[in-house]
Amino acid sequence: MSGMPLVAWCPAKVNLSLRVVGRREDGYHELETRFQAIDLWDRIEARADERLTLACEDPAVPCGPENLVLRAASAMRDLAPRRALGAALRLTKRIPVQGGLGGGSSDAAGALLLCARLWGLEPDAEVVQGLARELGADVPFFLFGGTADGTGRGDRIRTAEYLGDLPILLGIPPFGLSTREVFAAFAPRLTPRGGNVSVRASSGAKSRGDNDFSFMVNDLESVAFSIRPELGAFRDALLEAGALGALLCGSGSSVFGLFAEGTDLAPMAARLGERFARFRIVATRAVARGAYLADPAEGDAG
Ligand code: ATP
Repeated sequence: MSGMPLVAWCPAKVNLSLRVVGRREDGYHELETRFQAIDLWDRIEARADERLTLACEDPAVPCGPENLVLRAASAMRDLAPRRALGAALRLTKRIPVQGGLGGGSSDAAGALLLCARLWGLEPDAEVVQGLARELGADVPFFLFGGTADGTGRGDRIRTAEYLGDLPILLGIPPFGLSTREVFAAFAPRLTPRGGNVSVRASSGAKSRGDNDFSFMVNDLESVAFSIRPELGAFRDALLEAGALGALLCGSGSSVFGLFAEGTDLAPMAARLGERFARFRIVATRAVARGAYLADPAEGDAG
């Protein structure tokens, strides 16, 4: 193979809304969420090789078979059982781990696309979506990106009108929150007596245009903010700074604020950085795409 590796770029996401509407018999929660891809990217490169291996220099991320990149690569390889396919994969993490930004899920989507291309496989889009769903509830979204609604476990995706490249300020605390723990703490609020009842009606997230961001609600905030009150304080500071809406990202631990087009985030980032010295502040924006393979001519576009 030539010296040029194939490269996948994998974006982070925020949830513009996240409603927990019921509990499922399989133990998962029934969600209604609106995802938004953002301009913060992991990078995976791949070269054909005899064996399937992964290198990742981020100590927060396991490099073994539990890594979602390797799990996705294996799942794709299983589509061609009679061929011995290998790849030397290298993951460069920029998306903080356990921040509710979906980094592992996005990497999984990117790895599916990357390995299919590397091995010359051309699975139907529905087959790829099925693999994505098995890898994790957030993985299918990253095959689409942009703005999209998720139902079921969040894995049934319908694309929505793109929000536009609106500025987004992220606050990333020096700790993660476990998705499992946050949902476990939320569970008693959902179903007082057990059973599969839905506690509230659908949130009906709206699209841009009417400038109404009151749809931005995250049911998991109350739990996350009681575990870590500084997250609530950061969310309030974003609203005071003029955010159209501000929320916990998914099940945490990051918090984001969405701002009007053209807002200069730099002064706000500096002020928040002084007040919340433990947080990493990242100025970014919404993006229209999901995980994608770089055109070699594009260079390091991410
Ligand atoms: P989730 O809601 O799925 O926990 P998250 O966005 O909060 O997602 P991730 O950064 O995706 O957090 O990581 C969740 C866990 O997944 C980590 O604790 C890590 O051990 C595991 N993991 C497996 N593969 C990856 C990967 N490629 N990148 C990051 N984490 C990974």
